[in-house]
Amino acid sequence: MTDSKGLSAPYHPKNDGAWTREDIVPLLSLTGEKDLEKLFEQADRARKKYIGDRVHVRGILEFSNYCKNDCLYCGIRRSNSNVTRYRIEPHEIVEIAENAVNSLGYSTVLLQSGEDDHYTPGMIEEIIRAILERCDCRVALSIGERTLDEYRRFYDAGARRCLVRFETTNKKLYERLHPGSSATKNSFEERMELIKGLKSIGYQCGTGCMIGLPGQTAEDLAEDILFYNRHNINMAGMGPFLCHGDTPLAGNPDGTFEMALKMIAVTRIVCKDIFISATTALQTLKPIGGRELALQAGANLLMPNITPKKYRKLYLLYPNKVCTNESPSDCSSCVTRVIHSANRTVGSGFGDTLRK
Ligand code: SF4
Repeated sequence: MTDSKGLSAPYHPKNDGAWTREDIVPLLSLTGEKDLEKLFEQADRARKKYIGDRVHVRGILEFSNYCKNDCLYCGIRRSNSNVTRYRIEPHEIVEIAENAVNSLGYSTVLLQSGEDDHYTPGMIEEIIRAILERCDCRVALSIGERTLDEYRRFYDAGARRCLVRFETTNKKLYERLHPGSSATKNSFEERMELIKGLKSIGYQCGTGCMIGLPGQTAEDLAEDILFYNRHNINMAGMGPFLCHGDTPLAGNPDGTFEMALKMIAVTRIVCKDIFISATTALQTLKPIGGRELALQAGANLLMPNITPKKYRKLYLLYPNKVCTNESPSDCSSCVTRVIHSANRTVGSGFGDTLRK
């Protein structure tokens, strides 16, 4: 721990701050209690210095669990016939968003779904416009792969943030996990190009990896962190792999809470002013106190669910998902409690990126 690239140093391992995979892997490999404590403290200091104490909150609306893809890890993959599928009508999406902003006080609505072509580009544009006509908020999209032309239309309609996770920067692993079909190519290159393209349109771009995937190494995870900096990513949403029994990966061990926390901490130390969310998947591994620990290890975003209760149990990307019995207003009071118990303040305004 006295190495110049290690934790005894302040935030930068080298004067030019250029991190490498070799700098990051030892940090992700730490296991001793004292070393981990130091790592999380350093990340927390970096968070305070570059981001401050405010925790921004984005309300997630899971509006459709139909998906044309078959990602091996995903509970709502196309081939899982045990899923009861639902779609929320556009007018109801707008009403839910309106309630989240005008009654619960959220300043961002994140529209999330499987890759569902039922919602045409025109429908999505109309939903975005209708939300923005009624609410003073940011609209963010997490709807998977669409063409850049479509994403440009959504931007013109007013969407300003996008979340498209790369899941892993290891091309071979990515290809194993995302089998293509006649309807979808699911190519690694296209996913990466899309993420870069979203930045060029002007979106505040979120992406992220899954932590603890079968076959994934600490080197892969280090590359994932380097990707955020290389592409000036605005938000990292990382969650542990949680094994779903109705998928081809059934029987594999889950990712660990500890590794997920280390990824948050090291991402904060390396990427400084990036936004990092404490994800629901992380909370699922430690329902009590998990989000507080993430906030104390470098995270600065929470994403409570605003999906109506009747749909929540049907959007199970992974098993034992938390908050499926709660209502949007339960989740709203809960996040405020979590933020205060981590000695932080609820962010005001839109909570836009600090990375230009
Ligand atoms: S991870 Fe996303 S794209 Fe893949 S099957 Fe699940 S919902 Fe569809």
